Amino acid sequence: MVETDLTCPRCGDSVAAPSVWSSSWRCAKHGDVHPLRQVRSLSPEGLAGLLRNAVVPVMLPWPLPGGWLLTGFAAAGDDGFDPGAGFPDRSPHAQVEFGNHEFPLWHVDAPARAAFAGEVMGTWLWILLWPDTAGTLLVEPMRLLDLRDPGQELDLPFGARSPRLPGETG
Ligand SMILES: [Zn+2]
Repeated sequence: MVETDLTCPRCGDSVAAPSVWSSSWRCAKHGDVHPLRQVRSLSPEGLAGLLRNAVVPVMLPWPLPGGWLLTGFAAAGDDGFDPGAGFPDRSPHAQVEFGNHEFPLWHVDAPARAAFAGEVMGTWLWILLWPDTAGTLLVEPMRLLDLRDPGQELDLPFGARSPRLPGETG
């Protein structure tokens, strides 16, 4: 069994387990949430465990931009965050390619990072980049793969765990 940490997918704070008072996981700020489960095993085996239980695409930019490493992954059982009012009333700011199609993304205000959101194959896709200037990576459409798709023999370069993922205390 892969060990996990459970946190709020919106703020990264720890969540209270279901109890006799509530059948849901609860965040003190956001109420009932589907907790984010960070997979601790940053390895092909940990990724395989994530993929076995995934019911939505597990997107990865591929080929990875030069110098990029796979430094973490996590899962949450939510319907997806709504990016907010007025979305997408304006022209898209970026695009991703998936399955020979291009999908528009919109910039979403977020502190100290570049955040983009859009819908790909009926599922919300969020791309978060650090620092905020890394948003220039999306000047050109980013090609994505769904790691659940069979027949992909990818030699994924695993790196050290990213401290950016919620649930990481380091
Ligand atoms: Zn929260």
